[in-house]
Amino acid sequence: MSISATSPLLGGRLCLDFVNTSVAPSSLSWDELIHFLGVSRVISSERGAQLLALPESDPQAAEGLLQKASQLCVSLRKVFTAMHRKQKIASEWAESVNDILRITEGHDELVFENGVWRIEFIAREGGLDWLLAAVARSAAELVAEGPGARLRLCANPRCGLFFYDNSRTHRRRWCSMAICGNRNKVAAFARKHSTPPQYS
Ligand SMILES: [Zn+2]
Repeated sequence: MSISATSPLLGGRLCLDFVNTSVAPSSLSWDELIHFLGVSRVISSERGAQLLALPESDPQAAEGLLQKASQLCVSLRKVFTAMHRKQKIASEWAESVNDILRITEGHDELVFENGVWRIEFIAREGGLDWLLAAVARSAAELVAEGPGARLRLCANPRCGLFFYDNSRTHRRRWCSMAICGNRNKVAAFARKHSTPPQYS
C-alpha cells in the first residue's frame, strides 16, 4: 500500500482533520484522500488497499469521487473560516454537505477488526459517495453546534490547521504543542535574546 505522508490527525473532529489534509484543497490527491479515510478509520485497511488501485481499474469513478471530495474540502474550509471569524455561513457551502448527506442513506454496523471494535458505515446504494458520508455528518454536527462551537485556527499564521478545543481550560492555541507551539516558543526565545540591552 503506497501512501503519501499527510498531516497527523490533530483536529479532534473528523471534518476538521479532513479539511486539514489539504490546506490547498485543489491539490488533494487520490492517495491523500484514501490515506485519510484509512487513518481516520472510515474504511478498513483492506478497503483502503483496494481503493488505492481504483484509478487504474475505474478512473472515472475515482475521478468523480476525488472531485466531490475536493469540492467538499473547499466548501468546508469556507464554512469553518466563517465560523472562526463569527461570520455568516453561505447556504451554497452548506449545500455541498447536504449533497452528500442526501445520497448516502445507510446504516452503521459494529465491525470487529484487528482486535478492536469500530463502527463502519454500510451504504444502501452502491457508488463511492458514501465514503464521504462520515465527514459530511461530522461537519453538519459541528455547524449545528453554532457560535458556541470551540472551533479554533492554529495561532501560527503560517499553519492554517483547524482544531476543536477539547482542552479543560478551553485555551488551546496550537494545532500541536510539539509542532507550532514549540516553534513559537523557540521564536519567542530568539526574539528575547536578540533584543539589544535597554539602558535607561
Ligand atoms: Zn499549527
